[in-house]
Amino acid sequence: MSKSKYSPDSDGYYGEFGGAFIPEMLVPNITELRENYLKIIESDEFIKEFHHLLRDYTGRPTPLYFAKRLSEKYQTNIHLKREDLNHTGAHKINNTIGQVLLAEKLGKKRIIAETGAGQHGVATATVCALKGLECVVYMGALDVQRQAPNVTKMKMLGATVVPVESGNKTLKDATNEAMRDWINHPDDTYYIIGSVVGPHPYPDLVARMQSVISYEISLQLNTHIGRSFPDYVLACVGGGSNAAGGFYHFLENPAVKLIGAEAAGKGIDTPETAATLALGKTGILHGSKSKLIQDKYGQVIEPYSISAGLDYPGVGPLHSYLQSTGRCTYIPVTDQEALDAAMELTQLEGIIPALESAHALALLSKQKWNRSHHMVIILSGRGDKDMDTYSKYFSHESH
Ligand SMILES: *Cc1c(COP(=O)(O)O)cnc(C)c1O
Repeated sequence: MSKSKYSPDSDGYYGEFGGAFIPEMLVPNITELRENYLKIIESDEFIKEFHHLLRDYTGRPTPLYFAKRLSEKYQTNIHLKREDLNHTGAHKINNTIGQVLLAEKLGKKRIIAETGAGQHGVATATVCALKGLECVVYMGALDVQRQAPNVTKMKMLGATVVPVESGNKTLKDATNEAMRDWINHPDDTYYIIGSVVGPHPYPDLVARMQSVISYEISLQLNTHIGRSFPDYVLACVGGGSNAAGGFYHFLENPAVKLIGAEAAGKGIDTPETAATLALGKTGILHGSKSKLIQDKYGQVIEPYSISAGLDYPGVGPLHSYLQSTGRCTYIPVTDQEALDAAMELTQLEGIIPALESAHALALLSKQKWNRSHHMVIILSGRGDKDMDTYSKYFSHESH
């Protein structure tokens, strides 16, 4: 998509949200990226290589699957966009492939990333192995313990995983450490951010990389139902990249209603929540202005969700803007609602979703739908990584 009213302005603002709030020492890196990213990613050579890898390495296009039994239950037409079938099990690889190609074109030899749950770290380590690039992943020490299987994967893939011992030892601290690394290695290092967050131009860059999702939906719907847009797109929102990619090509079509599910955790009236768009106030985190969950002193609170991928105190500036203009609606979904929705999809369709994706599925029971409408739900990832959580839940249920 070329410029639209949902593209950021030249300073990276979507309305009042976005921008680039960075330390002086990062200005050269960010400027280099900002001045080159569009030129590179719109070049024929880049597009050819990107699409070759998306097809032959990642397995795209991912299917758009008509979920018959789920549709019967909710009395509407539900199509699942199967991002869970991507190599490495989620949509994150779309972005890491694109950014690694961009890094190569910028002449960078060393890749750094931060990761919370480890999914973005694994996707980054994967493409670095593919390309023979050095890879350093910063991860909070607590997350290193909590996400042991992903740490093993990253190490097998040849990445150096650096446990970060400062602060709460989670994602926010890992991000600070990655920024510090980047400042110290301005020439040879590229920083891959995993969602539509961070300073401009990252939110726009990542949205463009993930926009392949809505591009494919458009073509696939045209084949399946004879029109190239649905009545609804539903997606979960952590930082907001699978939602941004799933909404992207429909943003300017008002016939398509767009709904995001954010993690309410134990409920938006409890402190254990990650429902940024329901509860947040405008603030600055990780280099951009957006909605942010803060305490009464303006301190960012440690978010909570059963789903590690949605456990983030901020949200990409595009989503804050889409909420403020009314273009998209964002609805909080609790842990319990997500678990129930995961069970329902598994039993009706034989697909075990990631807990993150289950938040989008949980939107189905929150309103009445029209029998003749078509909706697309972005199934952002598969549930393999969540089996511990699911097994605790189901042993609890049966008692
Ligand atoms: C990381 C992740 C998310 C959340 O990230 P977004 O940037 O909001 O898409 C959602 N689903 C899965 C499976 C993930 O791994």
